[in-house]
Amino acid sequence: MRAEAIVDLSAIKHNVELLKNAAGTKLLAVVKADAYGHGLIPVAQAALSAGADYLGVALLEEAIALREAGIDAPILAWLVQPGSDFKKAIELDIEVAVASLAALKEISDASTSKKAKVHLEVDTGMSRGGFLGEWDSLTASHLVNVEIVGIFSHFARADEPDEKQNSDQMDRFNKMVARVHELGFTDVIRHLSNSAATLKNHAAAFDMVRTGIAMYGLSPDVITLGNSQSLGLRPAMQLRAALYLVKEVPAHTPVGYGATESTSADTKLGVIAMGYADGIPRIAHDAGIWFSGKKSPIIGRVSMDQFVVDLGAASKAKSGDWVVVFGNSSHGEYTADDWGAASHSINYEIVTRIGPRVPRIYSAHVY
Ligand SMILES: *Cc1c(COP(=O)(O)O)cnc(C)c1O
Repeated sequence: MRAEAIVDLSAIKHNVELLKNAAGTKLLAVVKADAYGHGLIPVAQAALSAGADYLGVALLEEAIALREAGIDAPILAWLVQPGSDFKKAIELDIEVAVASLAALKEISDASTSKKAKVHLEVDTGMSRGGFLGEWDSLTASHLVNVEIVGIFSHFARADEPDEKQNSDQMDRFNKMVARVHELGFTDVIRHLSNSAATLKNHAAAFDMVRTGIAMYGLSPDVITLGNSQSLGLRPAMQLRAALYLVKEVPAHTPVGYGATESTSADTKLGVIAMGYADGIPRIAHDAGIWFSGKKSPIIGRVSMDQFVVDLGAASKAKSGDWVVVFGNSSHGEYTADDWGAASHSINYEIVTRIGPRVPRIYSAHVY
């Protein structure tokens, strides 16, 4: 084995329970993008067994994959393109988000005696998906051929709980919900909160929360909300790799493409057979690996299939030894947060981009 992402499903279950308690409402487990890189089906099953009420995905094909795996829990897909196979969604009992009158018409046309189940997505200030200008023209006649199950929106700044945009979005959401009630739909699931709002804005929980990143044990924003540990979350993924090669080099040896860095002293270099094709960001700097109680930083540029770390002259590491690329930091490893910061990005991007060449292994973490 060259590299593997070890996913601890008991951590996912712990996080789901923590979030569901924090919300005090129904919980939709967000499993889009292969469950943020953790593996769609095993994570969906773990989340449901820990009490999740709904599964949420972006794409219709992700929802279909869940049904094909035999999962019969409610599923919402919120980014279903025009021209999609809405008949299949209806047949498989997949609920879809609708954000325009055109989409509503398309879905209504696909409905038969079995109506499509839809959640109305409303734009309360993020200016991404959701009804905005067309909202005022929506009438009950647009809704006769569909079953309105829910209404939802999405926060733009939930990771900055004191920002006024959060309360503005809640006010707009309440008004848009009131209009749906006026149209005669009073029994709808209202949902607005992502992970950050679930943890920090209890008033926004409504009837259901949609939690993604926190379910994987990662903080929505380390700077504004604190890290996993301070939030009581357990990071589920540990990325580890076997050292491909260890070798001694003298001081002032240039390393990697462009010779962007050189060794500062006589040292040992470790070559790890993972690169940007596996989701290790090429730009990453100030991250690295952990081995036997010690961190070793990246030296030089990350290449497609490999990167090099400076192990230090005294290192006992040898080819074939396993090292931790990121983990839950309980032994001082780098975290997905560290890799995010080291790449001018966020933990979300680090875990979702771990490539398909890296097998996902379901077990407790190794160190
Ligand atoms: C991805 C997504 C979420 C989950 O957000 P987290 O910050 O990961 O909790 C919730 N709702 C929608 C609509 C999303 O696209």
